[in-house]
Amino acid sequence: MLLGSNMGDRLSFLRAAYQQLQFEIAPITQSSSIYETEAWGKTDQQSFYNMVVALDTDLSAEALLDKTQHIESVIGRAKREKWGPRQIDIDILLFYKEIINKKNLTIPHAKLHLRNFALIPLVEIAPQLQHPALNKMFMDIFLDNGDESEVTKLNVRIDSC
Ligand code: ADP
Ligand code: MG
Repeated sequence: MLLGSNMGDRLSFLRAAYQQLQFEIAPITQSSSIYETEAWGKTDQQSFYNMVVALDTDLSAEALLDKTQHIESVIGRAKREKWGPRQIDIDILLFYKEIINKKNLTIPHAKLHLRNFALIPLVEIAPQLQHPALNKMFMDIFLDNGDESEVTKLNVRIDSC
């Protein structure tokens, strides 16, 4: 899963999502560093903090989406402001090796192969992993994807902040 926040206290929103995922679903088995990505265009928008986490679950992909959306709404509700950036976004990047194309759920995530801010933390925790639909290593997808946005690793990790 990819966690992202670009408003308010981004670290605490990431931490809240991390804790809720463990509380509501299962222990997190792997987590990446936290990365900062500049928001494009509008300069009044905060940069994004992103990280990737992995966990094992017996839930179906649909049930997992229900849970992650519930967690998004609980965390988002803490400090609701006018339309704008999100306190927390939880995207399901992969679900084992499954390929799912439903109206409300696309797995692998439809934009995963295009975005450095998802690929870099994913490759950090799973350097050997292949994209199950493109049959290509994520490392190679990252090297070839043409996304030039800068993604910077922060010096703080979620398990130590
Ligand atoms: P975004 O992540 O693009 O900023 P949202 O978080 O608002 O946008 O998600 C919009 C919709 O994306 C959700 O209603 C959800 O049903 C759908 N969706 C499709 N595939 C996925 C996925 N792999 N992970 C999370 N949401 C997904
Ligand atoms: Mg989302």
